[in-house]
This record gives sequence, structure tokens and C-alpha cells, in this order.
Amino acid sequence: MPQATARMADFDLSPEQRQVRQLVRNFAEKEILPFVERYEQEERYPLELIAKLPELGLMGPMIPEEYGGSFTDVVTYGVICEELARCDWVVASVVSVANSLLASSILAHGSRAQKERWLPPLAKGEILASACLTEPGGGTDLGNLRTRAERVDGGWKLTGTKVFISHAAHAGVFFVVATVDREKKHKGVTAFLLDPKTPGVSIAEFPMRTLKRDNLAEVHFTGAFVPDDDVLGEPGAGFPILGSALDTGRYSVAARCVGQAQRCLELATDYAMQRDAFGQKIGEFQMIQQKIADMVVRTESARALVYRLGRMKDAGVPRASMEASLAKLTASEAATQNALDAIQVHGGYGVSGEYEVGRLLLEAKALEFGEGTSELHRKLIAEFALGIRKQ
Ligand SMILES: Cc1cc2nc3c(=O)[nH]c(=O)nc-3n(C[C@H](O)[C@H](O)[C@H](O)COP(=O)(O)OP(=O)(O)OC[C@H]3O[C@@H](n4cnc5c(N)ncnc54)[C@H](O)[C@@H]3O)c2cc1C
Repeated sequence: MPQATARMADFDLSPEQRQVRQLVRNFAEKEILPFVERYEQEERYPLELIAKLPELGLMGPMIPEEYGGSFTDVVTYGVICEELARCDWVVASVVSVANSLLASSILAHGSRAQKERWLPPLAKGEILASACLTEPGGGTDLGNLRTRAERVDGGWKLTGTKVFISHAAHAGVFFVVATVDREKKHKGVTAFLLDPKTPGVSIAEFPMRTLKRDNLAEVHFTGAFVPDDDVLGEPGAGFPILGSALDTGRYSVAARCVGQAQRCLELATDYAMQRDAFGQKIGEFQMIQQKIADMVVRTESARALVYRLGRMKDAGVPRASMEASLAKLTASEAATQNALDAIQVHGGYGVSGEYEVGRLLLEAKALEFGEGTSELHRKLIAEFALGIRKQ
């Protein structure tokens, strides 16, 4: 085992959590990693790889047993996201969207009927989930939505467009935010649970230059009817629901970024100790060692912030928004910078089709946007520090 793997900062994990890490690592290395490049080359969504998750209970790590899930604790959930993302970011994203954005929101704000309807199929992997938040006009300013929810007899009609929607073409449930009154800004935001097969919902491919195996989609709502029973929480009270969903979402995205940063580090150390130049291993050159050292520092710092956040959540801290921003910002930038350094260690091969590191760069960069951009997190952290914003 390379040192980069052996000395990970998991000193504070319980024996059970370490066992889960090993189990998920073994599973992902055997059942997922060997196939990822093929899906990438074929630009194909990895449905067959996702189908392997339920058997190990990996589809519902945030869903309690009474709804068919495998929930133990939040740190374990983070470890699962980290280990899955170390091998494939799309598979990890499926788990993270279903659990952080959907299941956690339904558990915290849903009615008994909503929990019984959506949580068991999510936990068993019978349906996947999508979060329809971002609009063509912007994804950061979510208090200023343009997708409208109009009051009609017995429910609401949705009209508008969402873009960059992960998993949408394969999902069995959408978490949609729309406004019931645009004038009211964030006080008009309402959260809905929606069956994607509802008339008035259409899903089109979203044009991406890269990351094609993700199958990102554009979702159009043209008067899609949502019954009152499928409003999550109260009309006009969706903004705090969105806030708590993103709080948990940032945790799992940060954990995924740690997995990606770790993978880059391992690939770079392996390569550095194999490749020769000027009669020695390139890993013996000081400038390569500096990159390796920086990669270790970034990975370990990000991991420590993620585990701390997980422990706060396990301790019952209701909102840990500043810590979520710290973890998400640090981990996503660590993943990108580690990918850049890993590419540099590989020389020209870093951008060849033969090595994985080039792909990891684009995947890491994308995670600097999802669940809040780096600029948004810097703004939030500064506002917390200055006392302009409270938890
Ligand atoms: C691979 C991928 C998958 C995604 N999956 C999903 C998904 O499943 N569901 C979903 O809803 N969305 C998804 N997104 C969209 C993502 O959440 C948005 O891209 C993100 O929220 C930013 O929105 P935007 O791209 O519209 O940028 P904008 O909000 O238009 O921002 C543009 C730039 O301005 C900066 N900016 C904005 N406001 C401020 C401010 N106040 N201060 C300083 N700078 C600011 C931003 O940081 C950014 O640099 C995905 C995106 C990618 C790349």
C-alpha cells in the first residue's frame, strides 16, 4: 500500500467506520473503477455501475432503517461518498444527490405520506433523484428564481426551465424549487417533489463540452401539475428547506472532493516512483517532492474539515453553514489543484488518453461550481467572520 493511502487522517474514525471505508474501497476498486474509462469513452451514463450499489446498502446511507435505508451516522456517510468518488464521481453523485438533497430534505420537512412514498424506493435504488435548482439566468442567486408555481385547483402548475441537472434523464423523483411570488424574492421560494413522468415535464440534453458521461439535462416545465400533497413544507417556506438541503449537500460534495484529491495524490505518487529521468526516479527530484507534499497537505486539511463537519452533524448541531462552506471550499479547490499537480507529475502523459489524471481535473473543476461556487463560499465565510451573517 503506498504511503499516500496508508497514512490518511482517519485516526478519529471508529473501528466500524474504518470497516465501512475498507468495504466501500474494495467494492469500488473491483466493481466500479475498472469500468469508468469505458463509460467515459462511450460518453455513456453508468447505469450498470449504479445498479451495483443497493446490494451493499450504499443507496441509502442517510435514510433510516424504518424506510429501508442503512443510516448509521453522518461521518460514515461522508466516508462512503469519499470512497465512491475516489473511483467514480458520477456514481458518488447519484448517492450524494439522493441522500443529501432529497432524502435529508424529506426526512426533515416531509409529511409521513411523502416519507413513505419516496424514501423506500430511494433507499433500495429503485429510483434515482435529481435536484432541479439552477436556471439559465443563474444558479448562485437562488432567491431570485424565475420558474413559477401558479396556484390552481388542488395544487400548483410549474412553468420554467432548469439547466445542468444531473441524473435527470434517469431519475424517478425531482426536488424542484420554484417561486409562488417573484416579488417576494426568497420568501416566495417553494420546494416541490415531482414525478418526472408528470405531463408538462420534458427533459432534453444539456450541451456540455466535457463530462459527457454525466448526461446533464435541461428540464422544461410547461404547466406541470403538482398536487398540494407534493409540496415539501409550506408554500413560500422553501428557502430554508433549500438552505438545509445545501448544507448537507455541501458536506457530501466536500467528502467527494476529498476522495478525488486522494486519488490524484495516489496516482501522482505511484507515477513519481516509477518514472525515471536523468538516471533516477522523478519522485527523488525536489520540485516533484514539493508538489507531492502540497498534495498531501491539501488532502489531509480538507479531510479534517470534512470529518469535523460530519462530527458536528452527528452531535446534533442543526446548521453548520460556515463549517460547510469551509469544508466545501477547501476540498473542491484541493481536488482541482491536486489534479493539476498530478497532471504535471505525469508530464505530457497527464493529458493523454492513457492516464486518468486529465479526466480528474475536469471533474474536480466542476465541483467548484456545484453546491455553491468558490466565490459564494468565500463570501459566506467572510460574512460569518465579520458577523454580517449568523448561522
Ligand atoms: C457538472 C455540473 C453538475 C451540476 N449539477 C446540477 C444539478 O444537479 N442541479 C442543479 O440545480 N444545478 C447543477 N449544476 C449547476 C451548478 O449548481 C451551477 O453551475 C452553480 O450553482 C453556479 O451557477 P451558474 O453556473 O449559473 O453561475 P452564476 O450564478 O451565474 O455565477 C457566475 C459567476 O459569478 C460568481 N458570482 C455569483 N454571485 C456572486 C456573488 N454574490 N459574489 C461573488 N461572485 C458571485 C459565481 O461564483 C460565478 O463565478 C451543475 C453544474 C455542473 C458544472
